[in-house]
Amino acid sequence: MKWTPIKSEIATITLKKAAHDWSFVELSSLVRDAQNCPLILYPNPIRKKIMNHVRDQNVELGGLLVGSIVSITDSVEEIIAIVLRDAIPSIDFVSSAVSLTMSPRVWQSANSRLRDEMLVIGWYHSHPNLGAFFSCIDKKTQKDFFYNHYNLGLVIDPMRNEEKWYIGAEADEIEENRIRAFSL
Ligand SMILES: [Zn+2]
Repeated sequence: MKWTPIKSEIATITLKKAAHDWSFVELSSLVRDAQNCPLILYPNPIRKKIMNHVRDQNVELGGLLVGSIVSITDSVEEIIAIVLRDAIPSIDFVSSAVSLTMSPRVWQSANSRLRDEMLVIGWYHSHPNLGAFFSCIDKKTQKDFFYNHYNLGLVIDPMRNEEKWYIGAEADEIEENRIRAFSL
């Protein structure tokens, strides 16, 4: 995996704004649940977009995840949730059944679509029929390019219908119950 990252401005959404924009979230439970690891709020349309990109393919495909950080205060240190807001497929790529190289253009494409308080929050890719897990190379990619404590890595096996989420430089696995799907 080769990456040429372009720095994004980091801006957080405060709990107050999140409450206004996303009333589906029960905020008190959000704060309680987010003690050690932020909740990942994953809208169904974005899941659909990602699955449409990677399904029925025998080669690895991937792209970037765009989202917003929800913070108790205005600090990236007190993150209680990460809201996925878009997925940017990497269009020009070199991929085989077991590897994937994305072009810097996907970063430009993602950055050009960022609106208020959105940033490139992580990346996703598929492991067709290999199982959803982070390989050593994936862990290195995470460490080299998605090393902030709020950076996500999503891996999907569309054939086996599996997905796994990781967070931070060490690619810590996020428990399934921290991923909250919802309809917009
Ligand atoms: Zn991989």
